[in-house]
Amino acid sequence: MAKQKFKTEVSQLLQLIIHSLYSNKEIFLRELISNSSDALDKLRYLTLTDKKYKKIAFNPKVSISFLNTDKEKTITIEDNGIGMDKEDLVQSLGTIARSGTKKFLEQLSGDSKKDSNLIGQFGVGFYSCFMIADKVEVVTKKALDSKAYKWKSDGKTGFNIVDTKKETNGTQIVLYLNDNGHEYANRWSIDNIIKKYSDHIAFPIELNYTEEVDKKVENKTDQINSGSAFWKKSKSGLKKKDYNEFYKALSSDTEDPLLYIHTQAEGNLVYSTLFYIPKKAPFDMFRADYKSGIKLYINRVFITDDDKELIPTYLRFVKGVIDSEDLPLNVSREILQKNQILEKIKKNSVKKILNEFKNLLSKKREDYTLFFEQYGIPLKEGLYQDFENKDLLYDLMLFKTNKSDGYVTLEEYAKNMSKDQKSIFFLTGSKINELKNSPLLEVCNSKNIEVLLMDHEIDEMVFGGGMHKYKDFDFKSINHANALEELGDKKDKEKDKTNKNIDSLIKKIKKVLDNQVKDVVSSKRLANSPVCVVADSNDPTAQMQDLMKQMGQANFDTVKPIFEINPDHKIVKKLSKMPNNKQFKDSVLLLFDQALLVSNIKIENPGDFISRINGILEKSL
Ligand code: ADP
Ligand code: MG
Repeated sequence: MAKQKFKTEVSQLLQLIIHSLYSNKEIFLRELISNSSDALDKLRYLTLTDKKYKKIAFNPKVSISFLNTDKEKTITIEDNGIGMDKEDLVQSLGTIARSGTKKFLEQLSGDSKKDSNLIGQFGVGFYSCFMIADKVEVVTKKALDSKAYKWKSDGKTGFNIVDTKKETNGTQIVLYLNDNGHEYANRWSIDNIIKKYSDHIAFPIELNYTEEVDKKVENKTDQINSGSAFWKKSKSGLKKKDYNEFYKALSSDTEDPLLYIHTQAEGNLVYSTLFYIPKKAPFDMFRADYKSGIKLYINRVFITDDDKELIPTYLRFVKGVIDSEDLPLNVSREILQKNQILEKIKKNSVKKILNEFKNLLSKKREDYTLFFEQYGIPLKEGLYQDFENKDLLYDLMLFKTNKSDGYVTLEEYAKNMSKDQKSIFFLTGSKINELKNSPLLEVCNSKNIEVLLMDHEIDEMVFGGGMHKYKDFDFKSINHANALEELGDKKDKEKDKTNKNIDSLIKKIKKVLDNQVKDVVSSKRLANSPVCVVADSNDPTAQMQDLMKQMGQANFDTVKPIFEINPDHKIVKKLSKMPNNKQFKDSVLLLFDQALLVSNIKIENPGDFISRINGILEKSL
């Protein structure tokens, strides 16, 4: 067969991998062993569930051997797993099927530690062998097939595939080591790397070598790994270091996890789960095609790592293993999804995970804060996905507020409330800094009332709907008119009435702003600013309207804001004495635009705004 070129992104990727992983190049062996283990998992599943495969004698193992002569240095990794046919070879080793490739290339930072982390996440593990080899040969035969193939590549230009002979099903990979790889062609290096990265692999990993005994060279074989399913090991014998190492092997992350949660349930339902929370959110957490982080086993038999139903979507950043003894092996995925036992395990797992988060919050606030900065947004999704665990999820929320630079929990917020406060106030927008300086906060600041500052779209969706309650408290957005009514005292109202000038000013302003506002009112919330805009009590806020437009619901009429003016402000007082001339009109329009701008709402005509400002500048300079 003629030589086939790699897809361009493959050769690009190969170069990047070779450079970025250079300091961590020994992981090639972990990646190849992990692929062999996957291949054995797949075949085991078939032999257990599919009659056609029953005739295959399944004696799973991974064998490793090496050659170290002056002429040639090689390492060979062989398994008797599922194997590949021609199409598999082209698909798996000649293209990068995952849509993440482009994203991957964009995300490379040049920092090899970070980048090697990414490589694992993107599942381009096989290519890592070109760091230490300048030629790689893959001889493989798919289970039940009669034909075998040899794939050959230098990792630079392309690959070719030829027919070949192979007795048994499975895959043999020969690495022709380059200068960077010479150091690995010996018993000790291989032994060390396997112990370090692959000890938990559930199949025997054997190392073949020769030894001189009584002047005769003998062939020897050792099993290197301990080979038991890690999550089934007794918890008391496991140390944090062991958990961390298993995590790295499982996830290909190079950093330790933030948290691990190991459960071995006995009794009615026998299952083990081991969950990890990565320190950094997976790169694809906000992509629709994110990769599931949970592997399902039934009594140590690998079933799938591609079932997004195994954990609620809002916990999609959790990585780990679910292993149940009570599930039937021979079931289709559709049936599995409706399985009562699995449902129960999932439910228990979610509770357990959320409770561990809560634990972290109460015991290690700093760690929790880092956690929340990574995962706060998906957890908020939980507030509208997981009604059952709503209370637990509320306890996990952290908020910035007008009164603190750090975060507060709702419990802390409630503790700080004044006795007659009935609602939890919040303000939505797009940046914390901008929110902190919002005129809408002025009265709250002066009365020392705490307001949650919410800077993400999801906040509007979760808390803005008015469906949520924490304990007995409603959530109230102060982007709305009247939101602060419960705070108002009589004095304010009396003061209003006495201020007759303001009524006529309001009439004049209404004429100018006519179809741009829903109403103009005298404000009870402003202290230092002359004006602000708010949404009417039952209207969506400007942020919500943006969100609805983004989601394709553009066919609603934009709802106009209410314009509030501060009767005690110098500018407003001066305005009330002005005749209804062009300068008055310009001033009102300027004030209105600045009220929009400070709330980060688009103004209709920036050009007009600028020329009005310039008019004033000209006069004042
Ligand atoms: P990943 O393991 O994340 O899928 P890799 O680059 O490590 O990515 O491997 C790519 C693909 O090549 C695998 O998904 C698998 O289909 C195939 N493959 C690699 N090694 C083997 C093997 N030893 N036996 C069977 N298939 C293999
Ligand atoms: Mg792999």
